[in-house]
Amino acid sequence: MFDNLQDRLNTVFKKFKGQGRLDENNIQEGLREVRLALLEADVNFKVVKEFISRVKDRCLGQDVLKSLTPGQQVVKIVHEEMIGLLGGETADLELRGNPAVIMMVGLQGSGKTTTSSKLALHLRRLKFKPLLVPADVYRPAAIEQLTTLGKQLDVPVFASSTDMNPVDIASQAREYAREQGCNVMLLDTAGRLHIDETLMDELAAIKAEVSPQEILFVADAMTGQDAVTVAASFDERLDVSGVVLTKMDGDARGGAALSIKHVTGKPIKFVGMGEKASDLEVFHPDRAASRILGMGDMLTLIEKAQEDITEEEAEKIGKKFQRAEFDFEDFRTQMRRMKKLGSLEGILKMLPGMGGLKEKLGELKVPDKELGRVEAMINSMTMEERKNPNLINPSRKERIARGSGIELDEVNQLVKNFEQMRKMMKKMMGRSKKKGGMPKMP
Ligand code: GDP
Repeated sequence: MFDNLQDRLNTVFKKFKGQGRLDENNIQEGLREVRLALLEADVNFKVVKEFISRVKDRCLGQDVLKSLTPGQQVVKIVHEEMIGLLGGETADLELRGNPAVIMMVGLQGSGKTTTSSKLALHLRRLKFKPLLVPADVYRPAAIEQLTTLGKQLDVPVFASSTDMNPVDIASQAREYAREQGCNVMLLDTAGRLHIDETLMDELAAIKAEVSPQEILFVADAMTGQDAVTVAASFDERLDVSGVVLTKMDGDARGGAALSIKHVTGKPIKFVGMGEKASDLEVFHPDRAASRILGMGDMLTLIEKAQEDITEEEAEKIGKKFQRAEFDFEDFRTQMRRMKKLGSLEGILKMLPGMGGLKEKLGELKVPDKELGRVEAMINSMTMEERKNPNLINPSRKERIARGSGIELDEVNQLVKNFEQMRKMMKKMMGRSKKKGGMPKMP
């Protein structure tokens, strides 16, 4: 997400930082480039105009020009203003009531159904008991789609049927949620290809019936300014409480994300980062601004890594490392965990300073495919071999090569590298024990 914008701004800021002294002229010139970058990212032109004018006012203040590092001051101001543009504080869900009702609205294909199931998973992680409620009785298979998603996640789904009225579904589902002890209900409503009065009337009727605490407008980020316009119409009719921008994984520009709060006054609460149920992130304006400005987003990376690892497990792995007992089985577990975080390239983007590194390396190619090959080789080992790599003799290597469909040379290389890594760990641990401190990873 935000890739193009990040690249463009990185170039502008480099020029800024490279200049020892800044004067009004080169600030004006630099901000012109920031303006162009934002317009190219499809940010609403009015939003850009106001943004640049605020940044300019602050930058031309005497303090910036007199400071020792004016370039950095400018970047800091842009960062702060961008956080504001993205909504300022993180906007949490407001969940009250028994059950709390979240109503998902938006055009067809925006990602409502997928997001409903992602949110159910998110809420369950927060110890809520969600109920999924399909209320789209028009689109063929919409009910089935949500029912299947619910089953996969083991979240209960209300048994709606296409001959029911959506308002009745909502009120009956609320009763059902109470009976079942579900404390939050996610109402997946119908969408149309375009805004449509009949649909708006129906949504308003559902709203009146169940008074949802949250009405989340779901929009496809890749539709840019269209998403913003549609958001404004939905908001006018339904007074939405927040926005979910989906398909941010494919949106390199970021125009919708940077305009929607300013235009509608409603905060982005979540972003969809892929098709899987776990690909939903709480939207943090400060972290997003850091990502756009190439400062990375370590916090999100750490949170993702922690999502499914317990403290005991982390400690166990640490100890195995220390005793150089880390084996292929552990290796595979860690690899799979990493894959869940997304592609390696995606992970690197969350690390600070990657903007510059990318330029130095040219087109950075991270071998995600290679990881797949490594996993195939480990999969072809027996559990015994994984736990004790010393067992892997030439004939076993041949079997592993045959089983994984990978050249024998590559299997040899993997086993050899792994052995070397274990030896190195042992040495490092020995040294650090003598010195009495934690080892430094190379
Ligand atoms: P609905 O008509 O609004 O209910 O939309 P769906 O939930 O059926 O989603 C439409 C398509 O968008 C599906 O193919 C989803 O897998 C896909 N989709 C939804 N959210 C995301 C996302 O965050 N990233 C990506 N890449 N695809 C998404």
